[in-house]
Amino acid sequence: MTRGRLIERIPFPDEVILPLSQHLGAPSKPVVAVGDTVHRGQLIAEACGFVSVPLHASVTGRVTAIEKRFHPSGRPSEAIVIACDPTSPQTLYEEGPLQWENLATPELLATIQDGGFVGLGGAAFPTHVKLAVPEGKRVQFFLVNGCECEPYLTTDHRIMLEYTESIFLGIRIILKMLGAEKTFIGVETNKWDAIASLRDQIPADLPCEVIPLQTKYPQGAEKMLIKAVLHREVPSGRLPIDVQVVVSNVGTIAGIGELFAYGQPLIERVVTVTGPGVHNPSTLLMPVGTPLSQVLDYCGGLTEEIAQVLFGGPMMGSAQYNLQVPIMKGTSGILCLTEHQVLSRREYPCIRCAACLDACPVFLNPSLLGSLARSGRYDEMLGLHILDCMECGSCSYVCPSNIPLVQRFRVAKGLLREQQAREKVAKEREAREQQERAKVGGDVQEKVGSK
Ligand code: SF4
Ligand code: SF4
Repeated sequence: MTRGRLIERIPFPDEVILPLSQHLGAPSKPVVAVGDTVHRGQLIAEACGFVSVPLHASVTGRVTAIEKRFHPSGRPSEAIVIACDPTSPQTLYEEGPLQWENLATPELLATIQDGGFVGLGGAAFPTHVKLAVPEGKRVQFFLVNGCECEPYLTTDHRIMLEYTESIFLGIRIILKMLGAEKTFIGVETNKWDAIASLRDQIPADLPCEVIPLQTKYPQGAEKMLIKAVLHREVPSGRLPIDVQVVVSNVGTIAGIGELFAYGQPLIERVVTVTGPGVHNPSTLLMPVGTPLSQVLDYCGGLTEEIAQVLFGGPMMGSAQYNLQVPIMKGTSGILCLTEHQVLSRREYPCIRCAACLDACPVFLNPSLLGSLARSGRYDEMLGLHILDCMECGSCSYVCPSNIPLVQRFRVAKGLLREQQAREKVAKEREAREQQERAKVGGDVQEKVGSK
């Protein structure tokens, strides 16, 4: 619906809502107060630790509130609200290219963190953490994900056609940081025009190759992509770096290119607004924090048959309960579905057809995992590698009994992670107490000995 629509910048909204929690990791901490005037691109909240990124004003205006607002996750969350100044030209706070050629890797990583970058493919994991190569590890290849993560979305497709220069600048900088030999850009063959455009424009001195890939879901999943491009398999429980690969989404790379070319931190993003439930499906560039209602109005509003508005795609997206939620750094698409598409169907018992086993891209047994999840036997799911489930939803999609498998796996994984975190804290506390007991015992013996 949107593959042929050029990226269009929407008018600046009346206000932006910038939740402090926009990424995986610790939320950022405000450095502005209500009443402050802020400029587009100015720092407004600082990172809290390594797995955290700062937040920047996405419009020039005045901070009107720092309070709890609706959040796409479903829970109200602390946000900085900025009323946009309608008279401002909305130029950048500090505009100009950033020098990178002479910077060492730690400085480049710090620049990317200071730019507030997170993965734009949807997961919103801080980019500098992903690009930091741990001690003792080596990166052979940098892999750029140019496969759209989900059906309906065309954000990456349009970015590859319209931000080609920024993509190659981003790749150049990241190759330097990682010390990798070569970059591969994996693109599904339904984006033939993007493949041709990228191939035409690869700079002669850049070790980079575009690899056409079969169009299928979930081709854009990290482990699938590594397998398809490099024929390497990431072992269970391990990360791409364990097979000497780092993967990043093409939109993130383009954003990094823009950061070094113009000094623009992550304050705006491209979003696909699509589905039969919206009048004018479009590909839009908008400030982070734009209210969803304003984006939908710009697209002509919702149709009468609208039943559900999702952030993300049809397989992994999350339904929104309020149209005042803001566009986040990780919002790649807004999907508007009609009644017919979201029919809730009655669940039947498993008929052991094995369709879910055939569909699972990481070779799990969703049927067995589903029955364990249903009876709350979460510990047993660990032995069946539930933590390798990438929550792609393929098993639920093919199940003729309409069993909500992936929904149960999400709950199970959440509970297991909480349990593991509690166990880790308990172990650390026990180790600390043991150390203290040993120290007290040592002191007593010393005193007895001296007497
Ligand atoms: S959601 Fe289902 S199909 Fe996808 S990885 Fe998990 S178990 Fe496999
Ligand atoms: S697809 Fe559904 S019915 Fe078939 S084996 Fe899997 S869980 Fe059972």
